[in-house]
Amino acid sequence: MKTTVSSIEGSRQGLFINGEFVAPKAGNYIASYDPTTGERWYDLAEADADDVSAAVAAANAAFRNPAWRRMTQTDRGALVRTLAELVRTNADTLAEIETRDNGKLLKETRAQMRSMPDSYHYFAGMADKLQGDTIPINRADTLNINLREALGVVGMITPWNSPLMLLTGTLAPCLAIGNTVVIKPSEHATASTLALAELIHEAGFPAGVVNVVTGTGKSAGEALTRHPGVSKYVFTGSTATGRRIAGNAAQNLVPCSMELGGKSPHVIFGDVELEHAVNGVVSGVFAAAGQTCVAGSRCFVEASIYDKFIDALIARTGRIRVGLPTAEDTDIGPLALSDQLTKVEGYVASGVKEGAKIAAGGRRPQKEGLSRAGWYFEPTVMVDVHNDMGFMRDEIFGPVVGVMPFRDEAEMIALANDSHYGLASGIWTKDIDRALRFANQIEAGTVWVNTYRSASFMSANGGFKESGYGRRGGFEVMHEFSRLKNVIIDY
Ligand code: NAD
Repeated sequence: MKTTVSSIEGSRQGLFINGEFVAPKAGNYIASYDPTTGERWYDLAEADADDVSAAVAAANAAFRNPAWRRMTQTDRGALVRTLAELVRTNADTLAEIETRDNGKLLKETRAQMRSMPDSYHYFAGMADKLQGDTIPINRADTLNINLREALGVVGMITPWNSPLMLLTGTLAPCLAIGNTVVIKPSEHATASTLALAELIHEAGFPAGVVNVVTGTGKSAGEALTRHPGVSKYVFTGSTATGRRIAGNAAQNLVPCSMELGGKSPHVIFGDVELEHAVNGVVSGVFAAAGQTCVAGSRCFVEASIYDKFIDALIARTGRIRVGLPTAEDTDIGPLALSDQLTKVEGYVASGVKEGAKIAAGGRRPQKEGLSRAGWYFEPTVMVDVHNDMGFMRDEIFGPVVGVMPFRDEAEMIALANDSHYGLASGIWTKDIDRALRFANQIEAGTVWVNTYRSASFMSANGGFKESGYGRRGGFEVMHEFSRLKNVIIDY
């Protein structure tokens, strides 16, 4: 891969359509900024409806191209595996690019990129496992079968918080099954997806199988989600945008898979080892400066240990090191966007107005060596909170946790489920019966017991309620990205 952080610096990045990098037809570009300094570091193409139509046309032509359509399943799987190995070879460069773009810790983006090849290999194995069925029909000399086949062009719209890792779980199976793809990455972190396009080209995928259109949601995103030439959308992002995209897709009766926001409950019982649970809560909510969809941002603690827990949480939060995302000893980097910083500050201030108290953090760090123009915010613990406060209901997507006590299991489950989101949840207890009761009653797509944020591409993940529908990961995705065709044959 030729692309590096320094080759991107100050450059104009084009679109990837039909196997080549091209300039946007109208010649429009927008700036992408470095979250550690707030300064512009490259320009990305602002694709419009014409550019998007060219990408969708290329993807439709590629879907019908015998070089892709008639490729054997084994060869298609091998191509995905070739891409896996190119990702492995270039993992550290991809990590540097993504960290520069969204401010996520380099050690975390490195870990993500280095684990991605395993995910590509897992999904590559689906290429030769897509099977239909033979069905009874109550008639002699008649065969009734269901064929399972690829959908066509899949539109993928991704967010800025973990662009490549989130893309992998849908791109890899989509390609293995034989679909073609148009990707619209976030305008706030586009560079790593364009670098991946270079690897896709290098791997030898036929032109048009994967296309990348960049730009804002208003321009490129709207054009893609209103286009009649797309067979399915996979959207990862906020619930508000998800609603809008589902509305656009409905006009063309196109199905969607929605991976949306969350406001996940994290529950602590008195029977656990305190330090262990405190560490779990801290990494569950403050990782990536709180910019993870599964962040355990509502913390419910059994009343008998509440005071002790709060003291330990404040002490532990005070030891978190906010700093440059490239430094080895940093625990929390900047937020990815300046708007995000304003939003976090606004939610903390409104929480205080509603009666909550800041027990730790609550402001921009005043630390030597950090640019004042960078978008940093201290990890923040809020107490004296209740579930009706705005910051306890809305997804903040920043390093803020609200903590409140509960008296018994019934109260805890009522509080935990009192949210319009249902993405993830966590419980810390030594009582396995209690953990299972929680798993049964909680309205969330993921339940963690005595751990948080651990995940596998081998299992299906997704949301309940306004956190979305459709699943990423595991065998489930084979059905997400294929359809059945019924064939009846008299003989
Ligand atoms: P966002 O909704 O602002 O944007 C996501 C993507 O949608 C971007 O590419 C954006 O350009 C595009 N977009 C915006 N408006 C559009 C429109 N009208 N039509 C088409 N596309 C449009 O989300 P974000 O701020 O980039 O990401 C943060 C959100 O993503 C959080 O809510 C987080 O919880 C969620 N998220 C969910 C998961 C999950 O798996 N459930 C994973 C990561 C992030």
